[in-house]
Amino acid sequence: MYQFIVFCFFIPLSLFALKIEQTPIEFSHTRVELTKEYIKEHYGLHVKDIKITPKIIVIHHTAIDDYGKSLARFVSQTLPTDRPEIQNAGAVNVSAHFMVERDGTVHQLMPLDTMARHVIGLNYNSIGIENVGGENSADNLTQEQLKANVELVNYLKEKFKTIEYVIGHYEYRCFEKTPLWLEKDKGYRTEKDDPSVRFMNELRKEIKYFKSAPCPQESK
Ligand SMILES: [Zn+2]
Repeated sequence: MYQFIVFCFFIPLSLFALKIEQTPIEFSHTRVELTKEYIKEHYGLHVKDIKITPKIIVIHHTAIDDYGKSLARFVSQTLPTDRPEIQNAGAVNVSAHFMVERDGTVHQLMPLDTMARHVIGLNYNSIGIENVGGENSADNLTQEQLKANVELVNYLKEKFKTIEYVIGHYEYRCFEKTPLWLEKDKGYRTEKDDPSVRFMNELRKEIKYFKSAPCPQESK
């Protein structure tokens, strides 16, 4: 009887467990060394490794509606030549820790304690979640992606007690006057609209225990 009760208790929990596919992008010595160079050039830090202490989760969209094409942007270790807006700011390619497909499938692309290049100023203390979609600035992330992001953020909250904030990429500049901001180059900024105000508002309804980005009230 006891075994039956234990069985009944654990089955429902397991049904809701977050499934994470392991889809590692190449992250060899080359990418590690280029990341160290980025940290030195942009944050003025001389580091032995590229391990991070995550304090912020940054939500993105890939601006491409196809999963394969989105993933392809992160695979190369060096930055592709068609990114002129960030080309002069370092050779290490962009990446993120997770990518969420349009059907809600979650992929982990790299180790969570390793720095990804996904957000100016905050890379050294943040985890990046990319969502496939937003092509031509469309506000088209799906309900399945929303549910997966809620589960993923909750999973990360359990894993890293250091995480305080969940923000949309479009809010990153709100940290410029805070101690978390590390970028030294005042001219290195990009305009971002991802993942969309609508998506972040819906996400925040489900994750009330995190701080929002320290943006001025009128900019929300
Ligand atoms: Zn982004």
